[in-house]
Amino acid sequence: MKVKYSYLKRQFSDAEDLWIKLKKFVETGDFTLGKPLVEFENKFSKLMSVKHTIGVNSGTDAIKLSLKAVGIKSGDEVITAANTFVATVGAIAEIGAIPVFVDCDDTFCIDPNKIEKAITSKTKAIVPVHFTGYMANMNKIMPIAKKYKLKIIEDACQSILGSIDNKLAGTWGNTGAFSLHPLKNLNVWSDGGLIITNNDLLAKKLRLLRNHGLKDRDTVSLLGYNSRLDTLQAVVGNWLIPQTKKIAETRIKNAKYYDNEFKKIKYITIPHRPKNYKIVYHLYIVFAEKRDALLKYCIEKGIEAKVHYPIPIYRQAALKYLGYKKGDFPVSDIHTKKIITFPCDQHMKKIELDYIITTVRNFYRLKNE
Ligand SMILES: *Cc1c(COP(=O)(O)O)cnc(C)c1O
Repeated sequence: MKVKYSYLKRQFSDAEDLWIKLKKFVETGDFTLGKPLVEFENKFSKLMSVKHTIGVNSGTDAIKLSLKAVGIKSGDEVITAANTFVATVGAIAEIGAIPVFVDCDDTFCIDPNKIEKAITSKTKAIVPVHFTGYMANMNKIMPIAKKYKLKIIEDACQSILGSIDNKLAGTWGNTGAFSLHPLKNLNVWSDGGLIITNNDLLAKKLRLLRNHGLKDRDTVSLLGYNSRLDTLQAVVGNWLIPQTKKIAETRIKNAKYYDNEFKKIKYITIPHRPKNYKIVYHLYIVFAEKRDALLKYCIEKGIEAKVHYPIPIYRQAALKYLGYKKGDFPVSDIHTKKIITFPCDQHMKKIELDYIITTVRNFYRLKNE
């Protein structure tokens, strides 16, 4: 059996009604900042129970424009996690700010107990990454931000509808950034991103920033970017957004199924699942003994298992200029050797989940009942 990592071929195989909507939209020619975009932004605000959603052209830009909007400048230090997707760090660096790393804990997110040590007089913001579908511990991070007067831009690109104490990812900080990349939990057919905020002034500034700073056709009130979310993609977004909760619930169900089986295998350790967290499993990750051999075995058996990531961002060649070296963030380093990611998406079939579980059991030479 082959179990693919990408579900995109399945996801849009039955979308006749969407094609009809797209055809109708194309006939309107309303391509830039059009009506379906406004509709999509409003629907997302409702889903997240926030006042404002601003569509932008990627999750990376959602972070970048947010940092810009809260006043982060060249030379400011911005704290983030030592293991994240490169985009978090790219967004910080792009505006000339200096990424400052803090180690992760076993929820794969920034360890809140190590943040204060990284704060200097230059620190202006924290970008907690709600990595893999977990959330960074916002109950501990918010008081630190308050104490040191730091802005919080949440990188919620992997955790749409994740929450702690029923408070959603992206709604704790000054803004929350989301990605609509084809492989994110809520996706479109191209790049896209969303920023949410309850702050009217920030929302206004973000709307300017995404559209060249144009207040109207002839007035440039600040220097911005060309970073609009394509209205065509908003049509796709409008089609998919009613499924967002179901997508999260299905991933959670799949993860529970895995957890229940994997916990019977002594060579696998399931990460802590705090009761007050809703984890939405953008990535389903466990710790495995003999990880490299297991990964190889799974791939040989047709399962597209992965590692997120074999080299943590802080050790990437592009970030050498920051002066970090191997061993600076030991928890992230251990993760690179022990973690394995299995497909967990909403389109997985039970026989596929079972095949993965059986394959892992076979690898460890355990009897399958
Ligand atoms: C996907 C992702 C981003 C960036 O999103 P793009 O839409 O690809 O630009 C940022 N941070 C994290 C953690 C992500 O997974």
